[in-house]
Amino acid sequence: MEKIIAAKCKKMAEDIDSVFPLEPKIKKAFEDINRELFVPAGFKHLAYKLDALPMGANQWISSPLTVAKMTQYLNPDGADSVLEIGCGSGYQAAILSRLFRRVFTVERIEKLIVEAKRRFRDLSIYNINARYGDGLLGWPEFAPYDRILFSASASEIPEEIFSQLKEGGVLVAPMEKGGRQIITKFVKRSGRLFSQELEECLFVPTKNGTV
Ligand code: SAH
Repeated sequence: MEKIIAAKCKKMAEDIDSVFPLEPKIKKAFEDINRELFVPAGFKHLAYKLDALPMGANQWISSPLTVAKMTQYLNPDGADSVLEIGCGSGYQAAILSRLFRRVFTVERIEKLIVEAKRRFRDLSIYNINARYGDGLLGWPEFAPYDRILFSASASEIPEEIFSQLKEGGVLVAPMEKGGRQIITKFVKRSGRLFSQELEECLFVPTKNGTV
C-alpha cells in the first residue's frame, strides 16, 4: 500500500478508536486494508470519514465506525469461520479476512459482487469466498459457521440462517423494531438464540431474491 494511503488508514483507525475503543487486532485490520479501493471514484476524498458513502446500485458502504462496531461485537477472537449477508463493496469482508481464517460473503446484486471480487483479487486476499445469491438462505455448503453477520437490517432471523450457526456461535444483526434499527447480538445455546440489544443503527434492509 502507498505510504500516503497507509497513513490515512492509520489516522482513520485512530479516529475510530477514539470514539469506540478497538481491540489491537481489529485496529490493525483497519490500518491494513486500503479503504479507498472500496469507495467509488468521485468519493475518494471522503473515504476516511466516519460516514456511510454511496456505492452505486442504490446501496451504501457502511461507515468505517459501523464496520468496526459490527466486527468487534462479533467477538472474532478464537473463531474460525464467518458468514456475511450483504457483501456490498466488500470492505466489511476485507476487514473480517484479517481476523478469521475463512470468510464467506453473499450479495444479491450481481454487479456489486463482481466488483467486490475484483477488489479482493487486487488486494491479494485469498480467504474470502464471495457468492452472488440470496444471503437470507445462507451458504449451506460450508455451514455451520462460528459467526454470522448481517450487513443489512432484518426483521427476524430466518430458520435457514439459525441452522447454519454453530452451537455456541455468535450472530450480529441490525434488527428492525418499531420503526427503529438496533444492533443485536445473538448467541446460540442449547439450540436457542439468546439476544442482547446493543445500540441504535441505520442499515439498508435485506431483501429477498437476487437482481
Ligand atoms: N458490508 C457492506 C455493506 C453493504 S450495504 C460494505 O462493507 O460495503 C448492504 C448490502 O446488503 C447491499 O449491498 C445489499 O444489496 C445487500 N443485501 C440486501 N439483502 C440481501 C440478501 N438477501 N442477500 C444478500 N445481500 C443482500
